[in-house]
Amino acid sequence: MSRIVILGAGIAGHTAARHLNKLLGKQHEIFVVSPNAKWNWIPSNIWVGVGQMKEEQVTFDLAEIYRKTRVSFHQARAISINPDGNADNNNPFVTVEYTHPDKAGMTVNIFYDYLVNATGPKLNFGATEGLGPEHGHTVSVCTASHAREANEKLQVLIQAMRSGRNCTIVIGTGHGMCTCQGAAFEYIYNVDHVLREAGVRDKARIIWISNEYELGDFGMGGVHIKRGGYITNGKTFAESLMVERGIEWITRAHVKKVEAGRIHYETLDGTFHEQEFDFSMLIPPFAGVGLKAYDKSGADITSQLFAPNGFMKVDADYTQRPYSEWSAKDWPRTYQTPAYRNIFAVGIAFATPHLISKPMQSANGTPINPTAPRTGMPSAAMAMAVAKSISDMVNGADKPTHTASMAEMGAACVASTGANFFKGTAATMTVFPVVPDYEKYPDFGRDIDLTFGEIGLAGHWMKHLLHQTFIYQAKMKPGWSFIPD
Ligand SMILES: Cc1cc2nc3c(=O)[nH]c(=O)nc-3n(C[C@H](O)[C@H](O)[C@H](O)COP(=O)(O)OP(=O)(O)OC[C@H]3O[C@@H](n4cnc5c(N)ncnc54)[C@H](O)[C@@H]3O)c2cc1C
Repeated sequence: MSRIVILGAGIAGHTAARHLNKLLGKQHEIFVVSPNAKWNWIPSNIWVGVGQMKEEQVTFDLAEIYRKTRVSFHQARAISINPDGNADNNNPFVTVEYTHPDKAGMTVNIFYDYLVNATGPKLNFGATEGLGPEHGHTVSVCTASHAREANEKLQVLIQAMRSGRNCTIVIGTGHGMCTCQGAAFEYIYNVDHVLREAGVRDKARIIWISNEYELGDFGMGGVHIKRGGYITNGKTFAESLMVERGIEWITRAHVKKVEAGRIHYETLDGTFHEQEFDFSMLIPPFAGVGLKAYDKSGADITSQLFAPNGFMKVDADYTQRPYSEWSAKDWPRTYQTPAYRNIFAVGIAFATPHLISKPMQSANGTPINPTAPRTGMPSAAMAMAVAKSISDMVNGADKPTHTASMAEMGAACVASTGANFFKGTAATMTVFPVVPDYEKYPDFGRDIDLTFGEIGLAGHWMKHLLHQTFIYQAKMKPGWSFIPD
């Protein structure tokens, strides 16, 4: 009998749990530890943030779903890992603190044979003074409740515009080292759409602000795409979308501080600027969730398992090299930690070997560059690969049997506006692979036949379909495993 403990029930953790539940025999145990009672289909938070969907449409109760399976759900937050046990016991364990109201604050040690770290990101609003909905002046769409609050503020603003007020809206990234530009890009596009629907678009100045060197970088070092039979770059694609909608942009920006109604930022040329706003949604930088690790004697070995940014080290090549020497081969394939064969990290929780976009610093030494994106599709793909590897290892394999390198997989990004079936539109971009491979694809780093962008209603339908399909799959309804992750 083996016990597999999965930390986190987001896109990666829940995918791993579903597949392990299907793959493993009944004698094995699967534990999921996650602090929130609900699962959230995060990509649709964008629609909650503009009032086109309700919070309940993008979330569901995890305990109810796991009750139908062999998964034992612990509504708790993992605090630390003892990969070699402690002075009393050689068995590895994870220490968790319950968040479920019935046991809130209680800590227990959960022993494991295999551990999957899928704890996602810490939304690090604290990295920028005044950032975020809890202690700052900006809204967020990173969680369903943040998105609901964002919409409440947006609706107040729309009312003010209806009564004749002119407003400035600023959307983008809230720090020089953010990722997730795609989510902010989709949100700005949706805000523009709802203002048009409300008949107040002429009252709003909408501004994009980001740490990208050029629009369309998206943390992927930019992209060349095939569109309508010709090849163009992501910059032209993204800029034309902004120009068509009358959206202004500020790039190469590190937001240093946010005050009520005022953003202070530095740009790559080393100059400092201010931008006033009435409504602002800025994505925070991400960090690891702060798990600690201890050896048998209780000594802190966190730095052995985790990179300085708190993400877990896996089978990547973390050797520091100049940008010109980065290779697709640096990226992890199995997500197994080098130090412990029974610990894996998937989704946002693993430490990337380096950025994908070129690292840059302002004249004042401030890093201003997007960090590598880890979107839902790759997160699910690596979780599935790890679930299969663990299943094989439980049954005798001596090492991971499945791989899912971001340098060998594609991803799709659909920025869709409006939740109405006939009125929306979408900018759809697919890239293959996510991490460019210049040895295999010397011209553009990517397979240009599989890397394309389109704008139109079809993409909008695709996004709707993805919303319905992934929630159906995540709820483990009949036939869920036939739906590709
Ligand atoms: C607004 C927005 C829109 C997006 N849109 C898209 C899109 O259109 N397409 C796309 O592909 N991707 C999109 N993404 C990215 C996508 O949401 C992420 O790639 C994906 O959620 C990563 O999955 P994950 O499981 O690693 O992290 P998460 O989904 O964040 O899950 C992490 C889980 O770990 C739990 N956790 C946290 N701390 C602990 C702890 N200490 N112990 C145990 N559990 C813990 C959390 O509660 C959560 O359940 C979007 C992201 C955002 C923010």
